[in-house]
Amino acid sequence: MPGTPDKETITTPLPSDSHIIKTLHGVFGFRSFRPNQEEIVRAIMSGRDVFAVMPTGGGKSLCYQLPAVLLPGTCIVISPLISLMKDQVDAAQANGIRAAYLNSSLSPQEQSSVIEALLSNSLDLLYVAPERFSLDHFQELLNQVSISLAVIDEAHCISEWGHDFRPDYLSLSDLVSLLPNSPVTAFTATATLKVQEDILRKLRLRNPLIVRASFDRPNLTYDIRFKENTSAQLVSILKGFKGSAGIIYRTSRKSVNETAAMLQSKGIRALPYHAGLEGEERKQNQEAFIRDETDVIVATIAFGMGIDKSNIRFVIHADLPKSIENYYQETGRAGRDGEPSACIMLFSQADIPRVRFFIDTITDEDERTKALGALKKVISFASTTVCRRKTLLDYFGETYLADNCGSCDICLGSREVTDCTVEAQMLLSAIARTEERFGATHIVDIVTGIKNKKIRDFGHDRLKTWGVGKDRSKTFWRHLIDELLAQKIIARAEGLYPALYLLEKAVPVLKGNANVEMIRVKEEKSIKKPAIDHTEDYDRSLFDLLRALRKELADEQNVPPYVVFSDRSLREMAAMKPQNEEEMLAVNGVGKAKLSRYGKPFLDLIRRHCNEHPDET
Ligand code: ADP
Ligand code: MG
Repeated sequence: MPGTPDKETITTPLPSDSHIIKTLHGVFGFRSFRPNQEEIVRAIMSGRDVFAVMPTGGGKSLCYQLPAVLLPGTCIVISPLISLMKDQVDAAQANGIRAAYLNSSLSPQEQSSVIEALLSNSLDLLYVAPERFSLDHFQELLNQVSISLAVIDEAHCISEWGHDFRPDYLSLSDLVSLLPNSPVTAFTATATLKVQEDILRKLRLRNPLIVRASFDRPNLTYDIRFKENTSAQLVSILKGFKGSAGIIYRTSRKSVNETAAMLQSKGIRALPYHAGLEGEERKQNQEAFIRDETDVIVATIAFGMGIDKSNIRFVIHADLPKSIENYYQETGRAGRDGEPSACIMLFSQADIPRVRFFIDTITDEDERTKALGALKKVISFASTTVCRRKTLLDYFGETYLADNCGSCDICLGSREVTDCTVEAQMLLSAIARTEERFGATHIVDIVTGIKNKKIRDFGHDRLKTWGVGKDRSKTFWRHLIDELLAQKIIARAEGLYPALYLLEKAVPVLKGNANVEMIRVKEEKSIKKPAIDHTEDYDRSLFDLLRALRKELADEQNVPPYVVFSDRSLREMAAMKPQNEEEMLAVNGVGKAKLSRYGKPFLDLIRRHCNEHPDET
């Protein structure tokens, strides 16, 4: 029987395997399950509680939406982000699922009509905010309807250890006793074990299936480059992502504004986002990004929570992230749709003193120590030559077994190693001869033979090392200092005067008993292509036309473009060029509801394009 399974026709409480697969194809348009999805769906269908930790983009929604479609009754989803509810409901409705949400953004009339739909058993999915859930009259309402299952999305909000604890969530501890006959499920992308245990303890699930997915994101590439000239580097990176959506993270509001203005002046569609902007402007900029009306959002870390946009193709950290966890979360916003996406960080040791300065202003001693520890880990992550993926997964207690991930700057060998022992000796000797009292800028001025006031005042132009390195650029010397710092051959004094000083490892280098190697990125070979298998072979001009059509239809229906079709669906259309409805259904993400709603205009466009370009078909 085609179409969304009609609840009345399900006579057995446990639909067969073929029912599950048919729904996966017919309603969601997916060819296969992602890891862990099938196991979770089956557990829910058999009435079991579930607790699942899966990374962003892992496909948590499907795990409960599919059972919600198949099981009789309504699935209640408790979700903390009002801003996300509408998008999720729009996306479910686009697949023909009977979905609605209840929150304070609805008018009283709208709320009554949702309640009416709930009471007449005509909803598969109902999203509610946690504060509403704990209200007595809402509980009474739930007593009158049949609940297929309950879902706690973003379940880490129940934990004080989590990064966004919500007191409202504590009331969800009673969920299990309130729903003795329905499965209760909880989902989160927060990876730390401490939070995971806390959630389980608070929710008191009944013999739950516990799933902890791998945190590897195979469609993301990780690339860390030396930061030299941020603006020029950003412009050059963005050239490779023309027309794609991405986020650039910066630490200060000022640098957010400046970078956004700089990009705009180069003709790039970019908007700023930070907590200092007026509420209205901030909302508009976020909305423009979600609706593909701006390509780039330049933001502080205030941006990202409550963004489900699936077609973010790149996330650039133009400044050092606060911690590895932050980095993972922020980069995790790229490529939710499973399409190849890039995570690029621009890193310079020269940024560290500024971050240190901010950390020093933290008054709470515990907090300060924590921040410092987190910073040290990020620095080491960015400066070592170990596979980025391995280091990230290791941080979450996961062992990455492959020797070469094939999609980070280290594994792709896009770096070259050069022997810099002689140059290192020049620097070390300049540091030693000036009694370890000067910072990087002054040391570089000495070896490059600058004759400014400070150099003359100290008589440093009379040193043996003055000017010995004048045939190499200042940038080279800055990099070498970065490298010596990273290799712990030298260190930088903490506090107000960041003077460089020698560490034990400097002695054998100075004596010529140890070599120093410097790793440099070969820019031209920087990674572009992730390791996952995907078709590069698609018609780009058709893809652009499909994107424009998607935008037009999305605007007509007042939904974000990715709700109509994902980037992946469009790319498959531009590769497969379906000519009829049946071929269209073979495209990933095209289910029956989307076919009947959007199939015709897209098929018409593809056919027209094929007629106009017969040689490319
Ligand atoms: P999460 O909530 O875990 O971050 P979502 O549920 O928002 O992830 O899913 C992320 C993206 O993956 C969505 O665009 C969704 O349509 C897609 N997706 C989910 N499951 C599958 C699947 N089995 N096959 C293909 N795409 C999928
Ligand atoms: Mg989600």
